[in-house]
Amino acid sequence: MGEYVFDPLKEPKKSQEAISCKPKTTAEETTSQGSTVPVGSFGIRPDYYKVLESFSWVPKDAFKIEDRSKDTVFVKGVALRSDIVSKNHRHYVDEEVLRSARTLRGTAFVVNHDQSRIIGHVEDSEYEDGALEYTAILKKNKPEVQMLLNKDPRVRGVSVDADYRINKCIRCGQEFADIEQFTKHMHEVEKVFNFNYEPHGIHFKGLSMVIEPEVPGIEGTSVIPITGGKP
Ligand SMILES: [Zn+2]
Repeated sequence: MGEYVFDPLKEPKKSQEAISCKPKTTAEETTSQGSTVPVGSFGIRPDYYKVLESFSWVPKDAFKIEDRSKDTVFVKGVALRSDIVSKNHRHYVDEEVLRSARTLRGTAFVVNHDQSRIIGHVEDSEYEDGALEYTAILKKNKPEVQMLLNKDPRVRGVSVDADYRINKCIRCGQEFADIEQFTKHMHEVEKVFNFNYEPHGIHFKGLSMVIEPEVPGIEGTSVIPITGGKP
């Protein structure tokens, strides 16, 4: 108690009630199926390092700050990538990721989409080069954060928790606030049974560290300590 202060940079209260389309979000971007992300790389593929090193939006001093307190660790990473389809068939179009990027700011950082396992919070977030980048403050006294600091290969990356307002049919452009109506349209009008969801009006609710056996629904996510490991 008292060692951890939730950052005041919280998003203003959002009108959750206005979002009529609330897909099942818990663990939706996490799957137990196989992944091509190599083990032991923090869920980062080598070719992503270049992009990860952009973070041009982060205030210059942010990474210079040593441990903000002895109890927390500052991390950065990629939460989501646009224009790729997640393992559960969500296609996050670039413009929507750009528009929604800052809603991740101030949200809770949990483990494997379990809202009772809070290990910190997202401090800041921004879209850059097709990636939703973030910085976060994690609590060192959490075992999962110790796993991260110890470079435990079971830490596989991160996964977003999101709501969205509508699904858009990629064939006719019709928009659906209700996911069942959208699915019905795809089945009965478009006669398509294996389709991708295209969320619009995305509002991020949180971020999860993904630990095996779960793997991120999107490849190329990451969580990288900037400080930490010091007494
Ligand atoms: Zn259609």
